[in-house]
Formats: sequence, C-alpha cells, structure tokens
Amino acid sequence: MFTLSFLAVLVLAFSRGVRSGFAGAILLSGCWWFYGMRDERAVLLWIAPVLSGFLQKMKTGYRKEAESCLENVQKLHGHLEEKDRGFQNEIGFFEKRLLELSRLYEITRDLGRALDLQGLFQQLGEILYQTLGISGCWFVQLKTPEPPAGIVYRLDRIREREIRALLDSPGLFENEIAQCRQREGETGIRVGTRTLFPLRVENQLKGILAVDSAVSPLVEPLSIIAGQLALNLEKVELYNRVQELAILDGLTGAYGRRYFLERLQEEFVRSRKQELPLSLLMCDLDYFKEKNDTYGHLVGDEVLRAVAKILKQYIREVDLLGRYGGEEFTVILPETMPQKAWQVGERIRSMVQDSELEIYDEKIRVTISIGVSALSPKMSSVEELIDQADRALYSAKTKGRNRVEVYE
Ligand code: GH3
Ligand code: MG
Ligand code: MG
Repeated sequence: MFTLSFLAVLVLAFSRGVRSGFAGAILLSGCWWFYGMRDERAVLLWIAPVLSGFLQKMKTGYRKEAESCLENVQKLHGHLEEKDRGFQNEIGFFEKRLLELSRLYEITRDLGRALDLQGLFQQLGEILYQTLGISGCWFVQLKTPEPPAGIVYRLDRIREREIRALLDSPGLFENEIAQCRQREGETGIRVGTRTLFPLRVENQLKGILAVDSAVSPLVEPLSIIAGQLALNLEKVELYNRVQELAILDGLTGAYGRRYFLERLQEEFVRSRKQELPLSLLMCDLDYFKEKNDTYGHLVGDEVLRAVAKILKQYIREVDLLGRYGGEEFTVILPETMPQKAWQVGERIRSMVQDSELEIYDEKIRVTISIGVSALSPKMSSVEELIDQADRALYSAKTKGRNRVEVYE
C-alpha cells in the first residue's frame, strides 16, 4: 500500500510538478489518517515529491550541460570549417605560386640556352611579350660604368620603331639610368609608366631592362627574369670571349686560318645564293725573310703585328681579316666588286709602304704585295676563289712586288 502510494506521488510530482506531488502526498496521508493509519509512513510519503524535485533538477542540469556541450561542439565545428576554408585558400595560393614559380623556372631555363646576344633577346622577347603579355620593353647594356659614354642600346627586334622614338627624346634615358642608380637596393624602379630593372652581376651594373606598364604582380617575376638575364649576359660575354680566344691568332689578333676558311665558305655560299659580289684579298709581305735575317724573329713578329693593325684600320667592320700563313694575310670583302677591292688593296699597300715601323729602337719599312680575286658565276668552289687570289698575288710578286693585282 505504502509502495503504491509512494510511486503514485512520485509519478504525480514528476509529471505535474513538485507542488502537485506535495498536494497528492498531503491528500493521501490525510486519507490514511482518517482511516486510522497514523504512523510515520504517512510522513515518509512526503519524501516522494522531494525526491522527484531532486531528480528533475538533475535532469534539467544534465540537459543544460548536454545543450551547452552541443553548442560548444557546434561552435568548434564552425571554427574548424572556417579554418578549413582558410587552409583551402592557402593551399590554392601555394598551388598558384608553385605553378608561377615552375613557369618562371621554365622561362629562365630557356634564357640560359642562348649562347649569343641575338638568341638571348629572342628568348627574352618571347618571354616578355608572349608569356607575360608585356606591351613594350627594351634593354640597355652599359659598356662602361659611367653613363652616358659607352652605352650601347640593344633593342630587341620587336617594336624597335617605338623604342627608337623613345630613345630619340633627348636626355630621357640618361635620367632614367641616373634614377636607377640612385636606388641601388630596389629591384624594380618605376619611372612614369615604365619599370626599370637594374641588371647587376657581382654588384656591378651591367645594364638596365626597361619594361612598359608592368602591373604589380609582374614586378616580382620580372625582377627574377632580370637577375637571370644579367647572369646570362655575363655568360654570353664570357662565351664570346672564349670563342674569340680560340679563333683569333694570338700574335696579330686576326682570325686563324681554320675559322677564316669556315667564314669564307659561309660568305661564298651566301653571296652566290643572294647573287651578291664577293672579293678576296691575299696579302704577302715582301722579302720578309730578309727582315727576319736582319732584325731577328722577335722584331719580325712585331712587324707582323704592326702590319695587321694597319690592315684592320683600312677594312670595314663587315670585312674579315685572317692570318692565312706565316706572313700572309687574307681579307674577305663581302658585297664588294673587284674594282672596289683593288682600291682597298691599294690603300693598304700604300699605307704599309709609307709607314715607318718603330720596333725595339729600330725603324723598319716593309712593303706588301696583294692579289685580288672575285666571285664569278661559273666559280664552283671556294678553293677556286682562293686559288685565283693566290695567282694574282704571284703575278704581283713577279711584276716587281709592292703591287696590287686583280686576277683576270
Ligand atoms: P717574298 O714573299 O717577297 O717572295 O719573299 P719572302 O722573304 O717574304 O718569302 P716568303 O714569303 O716565302 O717568306 C716567308 C718568311 O716569313 C719565312 C719566315 O722567316 C717568315 N715568317 C713566317 N712566319 C713568321 C712568323 O710568325 N714570325 C716571323 N718573325 N717570321 C715569320
Ligand atoms: Mg709568304
Ligand atoms: Mg713574303
């Protein structure tokens, strides 16, 4: 009976609240009292609502705790999602950066392939115009540290007209160079719409790369390209120097026989293909054996050096001077008719004749004989051209030396 009443009050308190539980307990214990059941169990019955209240408190406590835990978990989840988005962005950024860097690496690797200036600028043009979408760029090579003297403008072939117009504006470029030098620490220096990149090798300013309207994201890759360009320029210069040392005759600075013959072959083929005139001079010092016998070989060597200097003075940039043998020199005269070649030979001959060479306190005079040959339509090989110049030279020798003869 007690258990049943206890459970009934407990359920009542649980479902209808603690107050209803107490009311139920009072009612039940009042009934018991009325029917003579007057003991402490009637009082014990009142514990049921208290117990129920305690249980309900525990329940709401646990629920609140669970809710706050859930809230925390949701917050944490949101936070993690946010972090994840951040990481995704960063991954995207690094992937983009990696792509840019690998593209840049490929670009600069291509720059490194060039062994001459023309190849280097062709590569540079492709990179800047096609890959990076630059609208205009040019490059200034400083031959001497002090501008403006000794500045060589090397323009890549694309957009040469526009760049030339810019360079023609007086003083413009010198100012830019000056500004470029004032701010040594910077990589890209903005001057108007242009950005200038100093090309430095071991802290020496070798040149300047000027780029038209380079937007900010391009400044970093361009400064990397400028660094690579500077190194490659140095490489090309060293390569040319080594090549020159290998192909030039050490005593006279004229081209060695092998290289000379290669170039003669090239000129021969080119002239025939384009139907251009080509002449060859074969020069031999007169009675040189005697000079050697009189003054000695060392003096003879200096005479050869001095004569080569005279020869270089009287030929054009496009002409090519070679040392064919001991005291024999040859000159390739591209796009030159035999009459003109004879005039060049005559100038050289008279200059050699009139020069008093001062060597080791000796005053020496020498003369030179020259044979001239020219490319003709029926000529089949370069050997024929050389042979005819040789025959003309022989003719000059037999006619008394110190003469210029054209092969007839
Ligand atoms: P010519 O040509 O007028 O007929 O008389 P030549 O005395 O000049 O005769 P040839 O051309 O045959 O002589 C070549 C001489 O040039 C022989 C050699 O003593 C000298 N020779 C050749 N190479 C060198 C060189 O590198 N240094 C010096 N000092 N002499 C050289
Ligand atoms: Mg000779
Ligand atoms: Mg001789």
